[in-house]
Amino acid sequence: MTAALSVLSPTAAVLEGLPLAIDRDEVLRFQGYQKNVDHPGPPVLAIFEEALALGLELMAPRVVYRTVAVTGGAPDRIDAGGERLQIPQIARLWGAVEAVGAGICTVGEAIEERVRRLFDARELPLAVMLDSVGSAAVESLAEHANDLLCQAGLRAGTKVTNRISPGYAGWDTAEQAALFRLCPGDPIGVRLNEACFMTPGKSISWLVGIGPGARVDHYFTQCRRCWMRDCAYRRTPAATTVRQPGDGVW
Ligand code: SF4
Repeated sequence: MTAALSVLSPTAAVLEGLPLAIDRDEVLRFQGYQKNVDHPGPPVLAIFEEALALGLELMAPRVVYRTVAVTGGAPDRIDAGGERLQIPQIARLWGAVEAVGAGICTVGEAIEERVRRLFDARELPLAVMLDSVGSAAVESLAEHANDLLCQAGLRAGTKVTNRISPGYAGWDTAEQAALFRLCPGDPIGVRLNEACFMTPGKSISWLVGIGPGARVDHYFTQCRRCWMRDCAYRRTPAATTVRQPGDGVW
């Protein structure tokens, strides 16, 4: 298992077997429950526990990551690695960045395969809940990687922004292809088709900005789910964690 990540790794770095925690509220949010508003009853919570146990058994978290120097840009554009990424308001959101970190993460195919089999067997509540567990797991994984990069950035004397993904906040989904050229998904078995759909489906691709002048927390407070208990740079108390507890850091 690898748990360290160099924020300035110019060659593709792969992390596997990260000790990932899955947030119950996040799973239930995918089920349509609003935190502190909707209160699922015991039958739903029992299905959640069953799906969580299955998900933890089946998931295989993997991350691939690579840093590329920024060569130019504009208010809505970043140039890096021969790509011109058109991202609305990125200069304002990120401030001055010297490099971008391109990453792809996945929890693998096994959860989706089991969901398909459960649907075939008409075990619909468990199928739908397990699908939500998979979605929450890959979101946790992306945040886990973002936290690792923040920690690595602090060690390297630089800053790392929140991640952004094609298809969100006005960034065209079609630029997924450019992101994959910056950081191919092959080392972790993630493929991109012509419609820019990733396989396995429980995968996320993302980009972060890196540099001493980078603005952090433009999207959410990164420390909110980071497990670094004694971090001198913590900006807000941790509400929960995306790392399994019990290894002494949380
Ligand atoms: S606590 Fe906050 S500043 Fe410290 S490593 Fe985690 S995300 Fe970064």
